[in-house]
Amino acid sequence: MSITDTTAIPTIGHWIDGAPRASHSGRTAPVFNPATGVQQARVALADQSEIDEAIASAQRGFETWSTYSVAKRQAVLFSFRELLNARNGELAEIITREHGKVLSDAMGEIARGQEVVELATGFAHFTKGAFNENVSTGIDVYSLKQPLGVVGVISPFNFPAMVPMWFFPVAIAAGNAVVLKPSEKDPSAALWMAELWKEAGLPDGVFTVLQGDKLAVDGLLTDPAVQSISFVGSTPIAKYIYETASQHGKRVQALGGAKNHMLVLPDADLDIVADQAINAGYGAAGERCMAISVVLAVEPVADELIEKITERISALRIGDGASHPEPQMGPLITAEHRAKVSGYVDIAEADGAKIVVDGRGFTAPGCEGGFFFGPTLIDEVPTTSRAYTEEIFGPVLEIVRVKSYDEGAALINSGQFGNGTAIFTNDGGAARRFQNEIQVGMIGINVPIPVPVAYHSFGGWKQSLFGDSKAYGVQGFEFFTREKAITSRWLDPATHGGIDLGFPQND
Ligand code: NAD
Repeated sequence: MSITDTTAIPTIGHWIDGAPRASHSGRTAPVFNPATGVQQARVALADQSEIDEAIASAQRGFETWSTYSVAKRQAVLFSFRELLNARNGELAEIITREHGKVLSDAMGEIARGQEVVELATGFAHFTKGAFNENVSTGIDVYSLKQPLGVVGVISPFNFPAMVPMWFFPVAIAAGNAVVLKPSEKDPSAALWMAELWKEAGLPDGVFTVLQGDKLAVDGLLTDPAVQSISFVGSTPIAKYIYETASQHGKRVQALGGAKNHMLVLPDADLDIVADQAINAGYGAAGERCMAISVVLAVEPVADELIEKITERISALRIGDGASHPEPQMGPLITAEHRAKVSGYVDIAEADGAKIVVDGRGFTAPGCEGGFFFGPTLIDEVPTTSRAYTEEIFGPVLEIVRVKSYDEGAALINSGQFGNGTAIFTNDGGAARRFQNEIQVGMIGINVPIPVPVAYHSFGGWKQSLFGDSKAYGVQGFEFFTREKAITSRWLDPATHGGIDLGFPQND
């Protein structure tokens, strides 16, 4: 099948009311296998009637689900967890086919999402209220944490399973109904997870998948029945989501882009640093919001580090992530994205940087039509270049040579993003300073991709997160519940004070 022969390819639809739902919008977007470059499906783009239908079904789902006891909700969550453990290989294959990351990496993303499912099984602990007895004579005060209702989740292409799982297990456990709008580039993982929920016993309408583009997103942002929005994607869209959903009275958490730096002090073991820079820079072809994209080398380490990274790049196996033996790195998501990544390397070169390893024009043997881009290493990147200040989101590692810890720390703090960063050193004092003074939401000390475990929360600072609430952990439960305070007295003539028009006071 060629890219232009689209007659025989399937159309991926929605999941509404606990069942697949074909779209009649007449609008679609192509879905490729990035390793071959072949269009393998098209995904429906919802029209307004489908958006309304999805939200109305979620509203009905919420009304049912919110009557379920804690014990019944827990049983469904445990069942989902067991099914996901038993069948995670199927989901990994779907991810690799549509995203392009290698199978073991797809399994890794599922495992990190599964952590949040496991956290969510303990929701009774996180959604407990508080009780104070006899706050005034004969009066008790207590609080409840109740679900919001219908909540929207809008996810990016780069983690089609994990990012939705940062939100929906917590939201569902807390009693909400979720409408998930996945990325139109890899829409199938969401449908697979919807089927799994059905099998786990989740009532219809509690987990809905609405396929679409800006129209579907805007529908979720503006419909009064949707109580909150959890978004992950690029910074300009995150900002738009935060502003629009806030204007429509919704609770919002909108996670944006990143430019993560690794600061290497001269006392660090450079072999370990080179391995970690390769893992964090080129894993998933650099399409991770926590990927390392800049290595700040405190001199005199730069030359030796570049040599070690270059050696390792030449040994990397690149190819179709579904092939055997498994390669280490797959393709980029689309041809357009590859052109964008390539354009940033052009910019760096034009701005005077030195291209040490050039991934432009790379093709993987046997996958000539795929959207591959070779691992790229650039030295002496000017910090004024757009190739340094903007997110590239590809397998491109940039070296910036600095004279001191202070110069490196100042560069990290001057960036527009604040998602993740790491320091590599054996100097505990420097590491403590780093964790204290760096203006970034997630810090690694000799850990290049410091994604917090499920019982801590995930989120950056500055242009990497709009809103007050991070994903999952305690903050996740706070986001997906609202508190109600109850002041209660049992009628008792002995403590009844008679008529008193004054404001209630305590005694
Ligand atoms: P994207 O912003 O293009 O798309 C994200 C979602 O927004 C998709 O569902 C898409 O359909 C929707 N969207 C796109 N354009 C829109 C518009 N104009 N109006 C309304 N909705 C729109 O992001 P992407 O390319 O899918 O993902 C990559 C980006 O996500 C990178 O910037 C990466 O850093 C970021 N990301 C951040 C985190 C984090 O935790 N901070 C995690 C993963 C990815």
